[in-house]
Amino acid sequence: MSDPAVSPSCELCEAAEFTRWFHRDDTCWVAECDSCDDPMVVWRHHGTEPSADELAHMKQRLTEAAEEVFGDTAWRIDEVRRTIPDHWHAHARIDRWSSFS
Ligand SMILES: [Zn+2]
Ligand SMILES: [Zn+2]
Repeated sequence: MSDPAVSPSCELCEAAEFTRWFHRDDTCWVAECDSCDDPMVVWRHHGTEPSADELAHMKQRLTEAAEEVFGDTAWRIDEVRRTIPDHWHAHARIDRWSSFS
């Protein structure tokens, strides 16, 4: 099996613009996640192993969107892919529980 650049059945490959978009380029796009509303960076390539350069680029773009959304609130990059495990993406999440302590 070759590694296709896009998969016809993958909603991240589809990249439908039904939420707020922060950024797009040839490597990735950053938008509000359709399911949880947190900023999410999505690789332009259908697969799970971006290069170190691409990873650094995507995390930087996600950081810019997260700082715009969350401001001074602490947040972290969540790389766990729960619903679409075969296409690399990452969320920026605030720790909603620690803010109450
Ligand atoms: Zn989400
Ligand atoms: Zn995909």
